[in-house]
Amino acid sequence: MEWRCPACREYGTHTGIRLTTPHALYRCGRCRTEWLEPSDGATGGHADRMSSYWEPHKFALFENHEVKLEFEQRYSEALDRASRHRDRLESALDFGCGTGNHLEFLQSRELTAFGVDINEGALARARARGLNVAHASNLSTLIPEESVDLVTIWDVIEHLYDPLSGLRAAVSRLRVGGILILETPNADFMPRRLLLGLGKHTGGRVSWFETMYYWEHKVYFSALGLKTILSEVQCEILALERRTSPRAKMSHYFSHDAAVQGTGWSHVVKRTWPVAERLTRRAGSGNALFVIAKRER
Ligand SMILES: [Zn+2]
Repeated sequence: MEWRCPACREYGTHTGIRLTTPHALYRCGRCRTEWLEPSDGATGGHADRMSSYWEPHKFALFENHEVKLEFEQRYSEALDRASRHRDRLESALDFGCGTGNHLEFLQSRELTAFGVDINEGALARARARGLNVAHASNLSTLIPEESVDLVTIWDVIEHLYDPLSGLRAAVSRLRVGGILILETPNADFMPRRLLLGLGKHTGGRVSWFETMYYWEHKVYFSALGLKTILSEVQCEILALERRTSPRAKMSHYFSHDAAVQGTGWSHVVKRTWPVAERLTRRAGSGNALFVIAKRER
């Protein structure tokens, strides 16, 4: 069976890597975006492909004081930069709002902010905080097209088997000239490439690459793949940067994620992450891609 790249639509090739989740890992020969396809037929149904999961530890993660502070710094910097590209930033849609930390931040900066998500548990938590949220399936009826100044998509599109449809739905709510802020994992993150190479070289016996593929993530964009898919939804990129995830978040992740725990060396990753974070950041690499873009038409 042939699979097409979710970023640029080129036909991809199977890397030969199978993950324990169970998924097969594909890579695009044109843009180097990587994606996962269920490797057993039982998990390939449409309903399953559209669903998303919130492991219980994520609720604690996004309530953690240190994690929240780190993210608020990022939110603040991103919003300041976005406001340099557009005079009017009064309304926002947070696509994949989770429990609502970013919505609360946007409100604190006096934006009228609306959030959508597909996880009912996360939505219930956001509602309990008095935030304005709805299930993503109601997006088109609740938010008119071309009606908001800002769309934010923090760590969301990698969860979708079909990120183009999700992006299109979100960006269509944006006014022409409005700003998109987006962050997603980076396929070209150096340790990912190294561990994958090690895995292939040893015929899969050294499977440390498993830690680089979080089971909730279905797509790992390269910078080129991200540029391609954003031009597809008429967004002009104003800034594209490689970043590292907040340390407190990664520390929490390495302590709680079952896939990482299963490898039995999560404590090593946890200890070495601060060093890896510093080195990759200095080398201009990073495990995440951050974008500020503008809707062109
Ligand atoms: Zn591609």
